Amino acid sequence: MGKREEQREVRRANKIRIVKFISRMGAVSKSEIASSLRLSMPTALQHVKELMEDGYLVENGEYGSTGGRKAKMLSLNETMAFAAGIDIEPNHIGFVLVNMRMEMVQRAKIRIPFSRDFAYYEAMGKWLHAFLEQSGVDRKRVVGVGISVPGTVKREENRMIYSPVLQAENVSFNRFGEWIGYPCQVENGVCGEAYEELFGEEEEAVYLSLNDVAEGAVYRRGNDADGLGSQVRPSWIGHMQVGNGGLLCYCGRRGCLNSLCSAKALSGENGKLDVFFQKVHRKEAGYKQRLEKYLDCLAVAVTNVRMAFGCRIVLGGAVGSYLGDFRKELDRRVAEVDRLDSDTSFLQIGKCQADASACGAAMGMVERVFEEI
Ligand SMILES: [Zn+2]
Repeated sequence: MGKREEQREVRRANKIRIVKFISRMGAVSKSEIASSLRLSMPTALQHVKELMEDGYLVENGEYGSTGGRKAKMLSLNETMAFAAGIDIEPNHIGFVLVNMRMEMVQRAKIRIPFSRDFAYYEAMGKWLHAFLEQSGVDRKRVVGVGISVPGTVKREENRMIYSPVLQAENVSFNRFGEWIGYPCQVENGVCGEAYEELFGEEEEAVYLSLNDVAEGAVYRRGNDADGLGSQVRPSWIGHMQVGNGGLLCYCGRRGCLNSLCSAKALSGENGKLDVFFQKVHRKEAGYKQRLEKYLDCLAVAVTNVRMAFGCRIVLGGAVGSYLGDFRKELDRRVAEVDRLDSDTSFLQIGKCQADASACGAAMGMVERVFEEI
């Protein structure tokens, strides 16, 4: 590589770092860019100028000032790129649209049972195009589609390996991508959820997704923000033994986190979680006891994860969104299980956004734009 090419590569790498930094921080000033990324002020200003000319950055608003000159804030140009996210579930498909600022701007859901037939993928493609049409977004700005599946995946082959929830194995998404005319990337649903929940955060964490299936993913700090594929790893935490009995897990055992701490452990096989918690609040017989057993098992799970990983733990998913009301009861149990440390501040309840897994998968797709700068 000649010296001139080398310099060009360095400039490009710096510009990518700037865009990724702003993506995680939201809005920043020019001096924050220079100091945080250890660039000289003239270098930072030149890169920012070029990134604005190319349409990646916009200037908007000003710092609330307490005197002195106000600094203009820089943020990503939200209309520069979009990605769609698809969430494949046993009885429905969720669609989301995420802009370059990682904001979800549109969502839709259709009822259609999962099937491996061509007709299913054909319907999914048609609904995706209708969804994008309805959003009114410039199609040329849509950079790709992230597909979240409730199962293990081989990302580099764009393949779902196995999904106990969908009762399917070895499903490739390469042809679907070719067929709809957008690059696709399949993601493990829990990893997508974790990424949506923890995106931009500096601290490592284990994310527990408490949905109809209860599983975990490990979030690690990215070196200059690596992206979904390298910052989030799936895990087998869902099959950790946290108690006795309960529903039979798909691994063939009972007592797994996945059976004792899933949403079904509270609501029953076909029940609704909101109905369950209404009954708890109304103090209907038996419901509080079921919740208490659930919290006992969750406390064991949380303590084991804490002991193994030593980092904070974020509780998310459908159950997570109800846990705020029972935080003290959970904390007390965690402190009882962990005899070595009564501090439970490592435990955090997430934002538990609906569509989190599809959003996370779409966010991973948006990030590809940054590499093309
Ligand atoms: Zn299991």
